[in-house]
Amino acid sequence: MWLLSEEQRKKLSESGVRSPHVNETCIGCSACVAICPDVYDLDDNGLSVVKELSNYENLSVDDSIQACPVNAISWKN
Ligand code: SF4
Repeated sequence: MWLLSEEQRKKLSESGVRSPHVNETCIGCSACVAICPDVYDLDDNGLSVVKELSNYENLSVDDSIQACPVNAISWKN
């Protein structure tokens, strides 16, 4: 599994591709992983991380944003 790096996020952004971002308030409830297993995984600390993909549309990211209990997920353009 490859994780989305800031460098890769910047390249996606330059190509007009938005990607989800998980901030430091994540409590590791795993709701986002359950909703979007192709997009998120839990790291060794049990916190959500975003996988490196070429596109994040049509993968229920909006649903994961709605489901996160601490509002830790947002789109980054
Ligand atoms: S839903 Fe929110 S709190 Fe739960 S693992 Fe995902 S980012 Fe973290």
